[in-house]
Amino acid sequence: MTDLSVATSLAASTLDIDAIRNEFPILGQTVHGKPLVYLDNGASAQKPFAVLDAMDRYYREMHSNVHRGAHTLGDRATVAFEGARETVRAFLNAADTRQIIWTRGTTEAINVIANGLAEKLNPGDEILVSQMEHHANIVPWQMLAERTGAKLMPVQVTPAGELDLPSFDSLLGERTRIMALTHVSNVLGTINPVQDLIARARSQGAITVIDGAQAVPHFQPDVQALDCDFYVFSSHKLFGPTGIGVLYGREELLEAMPPFMGGGEMIERVSFERTTWNTLPYKFEAGTPPIAEAIGLGAAIDYLQSLDRPAIEAAEQALLNRCNELVETVPGMEVIGTAASKVPVMSFKIAGLHPSDIGTLLDQQGIAIRTGHHCAMPLMDFFSVPGTARASFAFYNTLAEVDQLFQALRKIQRLLT
Ligand code: PLP
Repeated sequence: MTDLSVATSLAASTLDIDAIRNEFPILGQTVHGKPLVYLDNGASAQKPFAVLDAMDRYYREMHSNVHRGAHTLGDRATVAFEGARETVRAFLNAADTRQIIWTRGTTEAINVIANGLAEKLNPGDEILVSQMEHHANIVPWQMLAERTGAKLMPVQVTPAGELDLPSFDSLLGERTRIMALTHVSNVLGTINPVQDLIARARSQGAITVIDGAQAVPHFQPDVQALDCDFYVFSSHKLFGPTGIGVLYGREELLEAMPPFMGGGEMIERVSFERTTWNTLPYKFEAGTPPIAEAIGLGAAIDYLQSLDRPAIEAAEQALLNRCNELVETVPGMEVIGTAASKVPVMSFKIAGLHPSDIGTLLDQQGIAIRTGHHCAMPLMDFFSVPGTARASFAFYNTLAEVDQLFQALRKIQRLLT
């Protein structure tokens, strides 16, 4: 063991992982007769009792529509729903709940922003993205570019899977109107130095959009310290329910943006001659919102905040260190994404094996990973692979599970090559 892995293992050992795992009922099951080893957290994370119970309680005790103010249940639902918004505000350290808009997830949030910024773009303007973006942070900008005549400028990545900073510097310029970057790569695990890049982009007058989908499950962002204009994430990767996500935005930009969808809730007054918009955040929340889901997300954040965050981060790094130490025990295994600063995500290939075969055979052992292009085809092109296998960890994973993964990989490699 290296000094670093000894240190992280010691810090991690202050966590009672067994107790934590008992909070996640799904983890206790068997798959194909084997105890489930769930290593697909990057795709979607599992839910603790705190989330399941909060949503159950909402439906059993207070379900009603929100913001109608006519009766007790409606008031209770509204208090819980808006309480969750305040929880998210505090989690991100946003200045005001007016800046916290519910969306269906990261994808919808980026679409809301891209749509809202259309009027700010002219032909020849540039939108900076990177080669390591998820399709959710490429395609909406491509659609916007087509609508406005703007151009998409992809920042290169290095062979280690870090953002190529000289490429960033050469592409950032006075034509850059928008910089849309991921905080953490879903394929590589790379943590990008977004605070610095936001400052550079803002000094050129660009609007900055950060995709936090893969960051928030591992560390807590501070949107005021980052000084970004927009920060977005999905609840389901943060141990909360599906169907809800968050768009944080700078207030003056949100005020200036047109709504994404029309309907109830988002209006102040409607007449056939003219309709006026509701105040923030409701201007962007047409229709009955995902009430139980908002409450569930609030409960997920409360649960996370009740844990020892530094110990969790150390435990996650210990998982990553163990992976790195074991890679050489699998002949022909190569990790894609070896950045110095990473969350516990390991994309890999094994010479002579197709990623989907690796996934299927691991599943037979009860081990769930993801295989394929991970909605990052430009990145697959860069690494000249059709896809990868990816094990992505959460704080409830154990070093024993890492060992099981590598044991299974060694077996698959021996049998199939
Ligand atoms: N951005 C990143 C970095 C992701 O990893 C994902 C999902 O994997 C998304 C965006 C899209 O998230 P959602 O499907 O929840 O909208």
